[in-house]
Amino acid sequence: MGEGTRVERRLPTMSGTSGRPPSVDALARTGTGLPHPILVELARAAIADGAVETYTERVEAYRRSLLTPVVNATGVLLHTNLGRAPLAHSQPARPQTVEFDLATGERGSRQRAVGQLFATLTGAEAAMIVNNNAAAVLLVVAALAEGRDVAVSRGESVEIGGAFRVPEVMEQSGARLVDVGTTNRTRLSDYERATVRPGNDIAVVMKIHPSNYRVDGFVEETSISELATLGVPVVADIGSGLIDANVPWLRGAPPAWLAGEPAAVQALADGADLVTFSADKLLGGPQAGIIVGRTEFVERCARHPLARALRCGGLVLNALQDLALAYLDKRAATDVAFWRMVDEPIDVLRRRAEQIVAAAGIGSIVDTLALPGAGSAPGVSMPSVGVSIPGDRLAELRGHDTPVIARTRDGRTVVDLRSVDAADDAIVTAALASLATVSP
Ligand SMILES: *Cc1c(COP(=O)(O)O)cnc(C)c1O
Repeated sequence: MGEGTRVERRLPTMSGTSGRPPSVDALARTGTGLPHPILVELARAAIADGAVETYTERVEAYRRSLLTPVVNATGVLLHTNLGRAPLAHSQPARPQTVEFDLATGERGSRQRAVGQLFATLTGAEAAMIVNNNAAAVLLVVAALAEGRDVAVSRGESVEIGGAFRVPEVMEQSGARLVDVGTTNRTRLSDYERATVRPGNDIAVVMKIHPSNYRVDGFVEETSISELATLGVPVVADIGSGLIDANVPWLRGAPPAWLAGEPAAVQALADGADLVTFSADKLLGGPQAGIIVGRTEFVERCARHPLARALRCGGLVLNALQDLALAYLDKRAATDVAFWRMVDEPIDVLRRRAEQIVAAAGIGSIVDTLALPGAGSAPGVSMPSVGVSIPGDRLAELRGHDTPVIARTRDGRTVVDLRSVDAADDAIVTAALASLATVSP
């Protein structure tokens, strides 16, 4: 909202030195847009601070501290601070068969409906859903290796954002981490030595995708198919949740930026016994973690006491079910917002940018590079188009009715259209038009 558009309300008895401050109730009644108890709390705080005149500002600041839908014009498609994958979902306010078997009328498994869909989607024997991928890894290690050893390459003992650090996850799971190989090179023979070394009790070999960085140069890693020859269960944490490296739901060939990104179908086909991934990265769904693989191991995870603490509610399961059905129906390119953004042709982005510039009366069209984000596919980008305006106008764009989150580059503000749904172009246009009336 522009500064000039805010409705100024008169505050009661705001006299300075002579008068008394207004009552909490009288002040609270001048506020709008928030429930009364919050307005009272803010009024009380303003009076206690001797700053009655800041009340309206405090109400506005509080309102903006609530979860707010925004337009992501950063060009980072999966922006962790903006909740990663954008997702539309609705369902009726009606009970659903979360743990109920319609065939028998008895209690059913919470994992069944969505588990069977993800098993089909990935070619796995079984699947289960937990809160996020960090929970999936924690549960898998606890269920398969509690009190035993987990072999991990030194090149994969990674930290993913938000304090997910492999050594600490192992510790919390009650397993012991056995480092294998070196930071840049780990061979099959290194794993072989670790599995036979006296004193080691390797329950699982774990392959972890270093999602958020890339090591170049004199590097060597051991593939899942090689690890599968060791005779020890292989768990692959692929991270981002790319279902199939061939992306059969897209029109053309797999986009270049996906090269090297591990996928669930291929990880299982290569011999991983379990694969874990996030649902809100390249999968494009709600926050959840998915475990797919051999029935025996999935069942051990489901039976572990931690599973109860890490389970998802019906809301998330329902959204995941819709998502899995969209993939299975080959509707992902149109029905999954993330893949819709990826699939938007560059000339369509350019036409949208032209329309926005013409309607807003401000800005020039620039070529940009958008990023998948959320620590997926590090060091890669996809071609995009943006609208560029001089100066740093980020705060004003954030202040728009529906906030627009952009980026600055070389002293200019860039609104990248690849991360913007075409349906939101009108919001971007209005936000830019409001800047056109104020000189930078
Ligand atoms: C993102 C990621 C995680 C953490 O997943 P969350 O769903 O954010 O908990 C774990 N491992 C890898 C390899 C990742 O990329």
